[in-house]
Amino acid sequence: MIAAGNINITRVERSKLKDINLTNIPFGKYFTDHMLEVDFEDGEWKNAEIKPYQPLLLEPSLAALHYGQAIFEGIKAYKNEAGAVSIFRPHDNFKRFNASAERMQMPQVPEELFMEGMRMLVELDKNWIPQQPDHSLYIRPFMFSSDEMIGVRPSEKYKFLIILSPTGPYYNAPMRIYVEEQYVRAVPGGVGYAKAAGNYGAAMYATAQAKKKGYDQVLWMDAYEHKYVQECGTMNVFFIIGNKAITPELESGTILAGVTRDSAITVLREMGFDVEEGQLSIDNIIDAYRAGILYEVFGTGTAATISLIKELRYKDFTMTFDVDNWRTAPELKNRLNAIRYGQAPDTHGWMHRI
Ligand SMILES: *Cc1c(COP(=O)(O)O)cnc(C)c1O
Repeated sequence: MIAAGNINITRVERSKLKDINLTNIPFGKYFTDHMLEVDFEDGEWKNAEIKPYQPLLLEPSLAALHYGQAIFEGIKAYKNEAGAVSIFRPHDNFKRFNASAERMQMPQVPEELFMEGMRMLVELDKNWIPQQPDHSLYIRPFMFSSDEMIGVRPSEKYKFLIILSPTGPYYNAPMRIYVEEQYVRAVPGGVGYAKAAGNYGAAMYATAQAKKKGYDQVLWMDAYEHKYVQECGTMNVFFIIGNKAITPELESGTILAGVTRDSAITVLREMGFDVEEGQLSIDNIIDAYRAGILYEVFGTGTAATISLIKELRYKDFTMTFDVDNWRTAPELKNRLNAIRYGQAPDTHGWMHRI
């Protein structure tokens, strides 16, 4: 087993940072100078290395490319006004990563390797973290099977990596959402709760169809009755109905348990909402809309934090919302951001100082 002291560091000779302007940098396009790479072989993790960001040399027979044992995480680090760096709730992502690994029959990553590897990497590349408002460092841990053999079975070898991407404000205009009745994202007993790469590939066709019709994203429904709302694209979804905030429950295993979702539940309660995790049918949503008590609908996720939904289309029925006059989602976003950028007290211990 790898102890943190066994992570070798090889530094770049010349940082690429000089060539890059970190202001308003697009999401996911630029990567920092270094990456973490670790191998799983013979039943153990070895060769833990932080080294210059570089291409991987892979065999065409690489198992992950054929059978899809591949998982990932998305986490953000923030620099406050004093220049101190903190990562938002990384331990929750660590636990979710290993839950995904278990479901995909992949090895568990030891806590110290994940947490300390990430901390060392972020520390080494901390000059890459933009300090402007709404900027951050996106952290992408991922693991894939790396056997070089074509045969359908769990791989014996795996690679675990972490790469870092500085990111500017994630400009998210209020979205038009197509309620998807035909295609489904996840089924009970399936892998919906795992951040498994295949879930995202499997969602792209339906999303592209919705885009052709002029929508930004789909709202997924349950697989049996196509009636209960699940998630909005790759975001969890919240409905403000009367004085309640309602979000789909996690029990069926079809929904990704977002860290932002969990944080939003906590903050909404602090804002005085009665938060309910339950089953919410599209009929209930339409009834609430017609009764004039469906006040706000929004998505939550690490990349965008909170995304407002200005239109929901179900069959021939369109619900529209006056997002400019919303109070809840903008306040929720402000409160979460204040914690992340160190402008409000971190009363829940969410910020992990590096
Ligand atoms: C990552 C993800 C989310 C949001 O999770 P966060 O931890 O809040 O970033 C929601 N739904 C899906 C399908 C996701 O992949």
